[in-house]
Amino acid sequence: MAVDVGGVTVGGDAPVVVQSMTNTDTADVLSTLQQIKLLADAGSEIVRVTVNHDAAAAAVPEIVDRLRDEGYATPIVGDFHYNGHLLLTKFPAAARALDKLRINPGNVGTKHRDANFTQIVRVAIEHGKPVRIGVNWGSLDQRMLTELMDANASSPRPKPAQAVLMDALVESAVRSAALAEETGLGHDRIVLSAKVSSVRELVTVYRALAERTDHPLHLGLTEAGLGTKGIVATTAALAPLLLEGIGDTIRVSLTPKPDGDRAEEVRVARQILQSLGIRHFEPQVTSCPGCGRTTSTFFQEMAQDITSYIRDMMPIWRREYPGVEEMDVAVMGCVVNGPGESKQANIGISLPGTFEEPTAPVYIDGEHAVTLRGEGLVEEFKGILFDYVRRTYGAEVSAGNPSK
Ligand code: SF4
Repeated sequence: MAVDVGGVTVGGDAPVVVQSMTNTDTADVLSTLQQIKLLADAGSEIVRVTVNHDAAAAAVPEIVDRLRDEGYATPIVGDFHYNGHLLLTKFPAAARALDKLRINPGNVGTKHRDANFTQIVRVAIEHGKPVRIGVNWGSLDQRMLTELMDANASSPRPKPAQAVLMDALVESAVRSAALAEETGLGHDRIVLSAKVSSVRELVTVYRALAERTDHPLHLGLTEAGLGTKGIVATTAALAPLLLEGIGDTIRVSLTPKPDGDRAEEVRVARQILQSLGIRHFEPQVTSCPGCGRTTSTFFQEMAQDITSYIRDMMPIWRREYPGVEEMDVAVMGCVVNGPGESKQANIGISLPGTFEEPTAPVYIDGEHAVTLRGEGLVEEFKGILFDYVRRTYGAEVSAGNPSK
């Protein structure tokens, strides 16, 4: 099942979509616009914004209009909790401007839970918008949890409470989707998520959810945390699921430093997909960690230099040399693994380790092409690399090569 989100297909055979979320006050049009563009420029294919009060809802149409005026087609999703039914009814222009509505069924009230939920769904229907029903274990529908806990307590073989909590997450998502469809929302208008912050439990929940539904799944480890912990935990959680084909769109929920770069979560999401071989965004540089055989910093500096060179060239290369994003480059520190790893890459260089002969063989498509030496080695390698890109991915090559 595939869902169209403002022109971006989520699910079905579509590539796994990278998305992110702003952390500005949405009522602050300029800051929010600026951050959406930052995230989009980094590669976020969908961006979500908080819509939590009147001023935020009122700002949405202007944000989207200005974004489109500046040439950005990135779909914008509104994130609603507690008062979404009221805001979307009071500010229909916001509903019209948004490309998708995110509803958390645990945060639509208790007494009038279903009425509030269906009120949002009816707004989505009226404006022809898809919804994401996003369950989160930090705000799970307590009525649902109590119901399943009670049923579990009276069963002959009760499960541990944590297992029932996981069941309740899945059940909340599935039952909410059914209620949305009963209200009249098309089956092809619903994306589901059920996020937790525990790696193992995320894998368990999403496997169960994928068994129960054919709706596209939005995947993410919620509240992943800061820095290395957040990146590693997210990767550990998402990798097994993505490799099993579970997950149609991903978000990496890193906690940024107070003055940190919000786009980091986008770069991490893209790198996860690229490292798994699921999508290709830019050429990958393979480099060894170095060891006692590389006592100078030359090798690290060269690996960094080549990585930066490729990143700087990509805006042009992406346009002029389609397919270049699949290229593998190796920059290796010594003769131990250098030639072997370089031969595996499209183009690789094996630098001389300490006490080795000061020469650097370059391998192109598995064959030894040339040996570099001396001070201009890095610039010479860049020249060879650019020449390889032109010859391999250039238009005249592509035109004459049906595999391109
Ligand atoms: S390739 Fe050479 S320098 Fe790099 S880690 Fe292996 S032994 Fe060390």
